Amino acid sequence: MAIAPVKGTKDIYKDEALYHRYVSSFLRSTVELYGFKEIETPVLEHTEVFTHGTGESSDVVRKEMYTFEDKGSRSVTMRPEFTAGIVRSIVSNKWYATEDLPLKMYYHGPAFRYERPQLGRYRQFHQFGVEEIGLDSARADAEIVIMAIHSLSVLGFKNVKLKINSIGDAESRNNYKKALVEYFSSRIDEMCPDCKERLELNPLRILDCKVPADQEIAKGAPSMKDYLSEASEKRFYETLSIINDFGIEYEVDDGLVRGLDYYSEMVFEIHILSEEGKDYGAVCGGGHYGGLVKLLGGPDLPGVGYAMGVERVVSLMQDNHLLDDVKETTDVYVMPIGQDMLDDAFTLTMNVRSLGYSAETPMANMKMGAMFKKAEKRGCKIALILGEEELNSGVVQMKNLETQVQKTVALDDLEDVLNEELNPSSGCGCGCSCDGDCDCEGGECECGGKCCCSEEKN
Ligand code: AMP
Repeated sequence: MAIAPVKGTKDIYKDEALYHRYVSSFLRSTVELYGFKEIETPVLEHTEVFTHGTGESSDVVRKEMYTFEDKGSRSVTMRPEFTAGIVRSIVSNKWYATEDLPLKMYYHGPAFRYERPQLGRYRQFHQFGVEEIGLDSARADAEIVIMAIHSLSVLGFKNVKLKINSIGDAESRNNYKKALVEYFSSRIDEMCPDCKERLELNPLRILDCKVPADQEIAKGAPSMKDYLSEASEKRFYETLSIINDFGIEYEVDDGLVRGLDYYSEMVFEIHILSEEGKDYGAVCGGGHYGGLVKLLGGPDLPGVGYAMGVERVVSLMQDNHLLDDVKETTDVYVMPIGQDMLDDAFTLTMNVRSLGYSAETPMANMKMGAMFKKAEKRGCKIALILGEEELNSGVVQMKNLETQVQKTVALDDLEDVLNEELNPSSGCGCGCSCDGDCDCEGGECECGGKCCCSEEKN
């Protein structure tokens, strides 16, 4: 009996796994430029981490958690998001006391939500995100937003839209919630059952409702900006002005409240747009949170962070042809001519691997044509063909499968020739990928490297 994957989950293999690795490695190296360090927390947490932390009124906690009793009758939950678990880890380990503040952490891993699966929405998906804890500053909020935009531009996204809002401090939100209750109470009978519950639990969530008729009603609701305290307003405009100074365009979206309970002050989302301006939706969401550390048993420290959906980033990069050249390949296929060459081909393959290049060879005798097909399927750039004659003369036939050029290479020269064929910039070690084939006048090269080849040319 063939067993299907669990609904809303998917297997990630080969090129797709490489895309995930590619995306996460660029995201990691970008946030590391800002001083963030990796944290890994368990997938399983005590359910209270999310009911208290993420918040009982959020849709994620009310409807979407994978919660079960373990064999010791404890209620545990597979994380639906990372922030609450990370804050739990900071409190459990007392890092707020033993580590230098602010704590600057990044994470990458799977999250689980029982949502209705649809395009770009899974029940198991991956998030890459950051948390900065222990610094209450409009500048820190701005830096997080700038870093998120920077990360997406490093991945090649040229057209992004930053939506940003302030949901104010506790006092601003309380006043605003009262105004929302007053406004929605007279219309609530026309609204969806979820909104009826939201009116009781947290009326801000009504602004997140996706039901078109409810969204229409929400259009006439009071505006958050009219309820911001003076301090929250000042803080928000300071954040906006720093973001603006970096040439980042933004849209203040008064309806943006974000779905999780812990947010306060600045919240934001980043959408990817097509060249024509079509909005593909949010790939990143985040904001400032006030009382979360205290709520989970620690001191009163603020935090700010964001989460990016890796599947959505990967799929939009594919749509925008940003991953066309990213392919899972093997560098070299070693081809023994005849059964007797299998052992020597195996040794040669191990030697190629010890030079740092990936290599494969057949484990049983194969016809030449079949080996070339295998090499092609594996995306190999180089075939090394080894027969008795070559072995006796201390050489190998090297065929570049992209250019189809074949040459005899002495085994003693194999490392240098493979470096030239597979890693051309390693020749002079200048890090320039043009290998001197460029018009720069030395120094900074158009490829981004410092080109010593062109200095030599001068
Ligand atoms: P959130 O934690 O809801 O703010 O989500 C942050 C980001 O994670 C979103 O912008 C999406 O890119 C991604 N995301 C959230 N839920 C899902 C899901 N069910 N499937 C895939 N990606 C998701």
